[in-house]
Amino acid sequence: MKSASRTNLVVIGAGPGGYVAAIRASQLGMKVTMVEKDRPGGLCLNWGCIPSKALLKSAEMYEELKKGAAFGITAEKIGFDLSAIVDRSRGISERIVSGVEYLFKKYSVQSIKGVARLVSPKKVEVATAQETLSLSADLIVIATGTRPRDLPGMARDGERIISSKEALVLKTLPKRLVVIGAGAIGMEFAYFYSCLGSEVTILEALPRALPIEDDEVSDIVAKSFKRRGLQIDTDARVASVARKKEEVEIQYEASGAKKILKVDIALVAVGVTANTDGLGLETLGIKTHKNGIAVDEHLQTSVPGVYAIGDVIGPPWLAHVASAEGVHAVEHIAGLNPRVINCKPEVASVGLNERKAKEMGVEYTIGRFQFRASGRALAAGDTDGMVKLLFEKKYGGLIGAHIVGGEATEMIHELALAINLEATAEEIGKTVHAHPTYGESVMEAALDAIGERIHGA
Ligand code: NAD
Repeated sequence: MKSASRTNLVVIGAGPGGYVAAIRASQLGMKVTMVEKDRPGGLCLNWGCIPSKALLKSAEMYEELKKGAAFGITAEKIGFDLSAIVDRSRGISERIVSGVEYLFKKYSVQSIKGVARLVSPKKVEVATAQETLSLSADLIVIATGTRPRDLPGMARDGERIISSKEALVLKTLPKRLVVIGAGAIGMEFAYFYSCLGSEVTILEALPRALPIEDDEVSDIVAKSFKRRGLQIDTDARVASVARKKEEVEIQYEASGAKKILKVDIALVAVGVTANTDGLGLETLGIKTHKNGIAVDEHLQTSVPGVYAIGDVIGPPWLAHVASAEGVHAVEHIAGLNPRVINCKPEVASVGLNERKAKEMGVEYTIGRFQFRASGRALAAGDTDGMVKLLFEKKYGGLIGAHIVGGEATEMIHELALAINLEATAEEIGKTVHAHPTYGESVMEAALDAIGERIHGA
């Protein structure tokens, strides 16, 4: 088949939002270029969810071993090596990041290391270490994520006043640690370092730790932390965080009293801020809100053809939300939501039609079945119409389904599910459909695509 150049999708940022969007888009037949300034995997795989869970596992194991005697387990000289704990965590992160790099190869996603900037809705400029590239794009997905938020006027130095990134790779255990912010990140690190023996104080601006959780839940966690010896000061107003040689001094107010705390390390975990600087949003007139880029229900920004997904569009800032949004955005681009028209003959479709597939340069095979060859349609005296299915050539999955006639508006859902499951013509065609039904026509159309149709001319 003659193929125009395939739809160029440029995805900016290879975190759990961007890399999943890129892979799904490639599965749907688009030609995908992934631009990332660092390793793929984003915060989650490199500096968040995965390495932190690895650290936490070591802390849990250490704690369990210390409790072993109560369970009849004897062990002597239970200790830990922080650098080995950190090395294990980095190794796991490395493994999972290489897994994403492998997936890019598997799905023919072109990966470019560099910093991207939008020049127009159809052009992205990428500054690599060697040169500046100009990429043409039919569609763009922005998935640049977030970075740790700073306390206003209190800069981190990355050494003693740190963010979660540095907290993942500390070389020596802080004797005294203050964690500012009792959200998910603050509480996880507070737990980790207290398990290993740091004296930990948590300062939270709101009246309770884990303030977005149910009050009873937050109370139980706070009590448990206090039993472990952690100090939690809520309603805390931090006035200053200042490096004083080898310590950090924190001045704050809690319960009406002014307090000063001296620690070895201050971990600032007071939320995140969207990575939108230097992206060129203003050049294109892409609208933003206080937490990032504004999008519609299909993740499209105020500029048609430019989508944004994941942390950069605001809360909830969660990896799995970003991935789900990545899939939603590219499936919306590919038209994967079923559409129905209730006139007679009924019309229903999902996915790509031939015109769109050609525009996108997707190679496909077609299977058809006319209702005039369906026993059920003949019995109903309702023979106008057909089922037409499009299967992507390389991977064989269904990419488009079109029904006119029969009970099209009811029948389409089998095919919407089939697209979601990336079912092939063989899988649909070899699924027994009851006789006499309109549904048999779906089976026959799928068999037609592989030259195995039984009925019809
Ligand atoms: P967060 O918004 O969850 O928590 C920040 C906390 O800091 C809040 O409780 C806030 O009240 C407090 N705070 C803000 N300003 C303060 C100040 N000046 N002084 C003291 N306290 C202050 O943000 P986070 O913990 O940094 O995490 C960032 C995002 O990453 C969150 O959306 C979180 O849900 C997500 N995350 C999730 C997980 C998980 O699912 N297990 C783990 C890590 C991070």
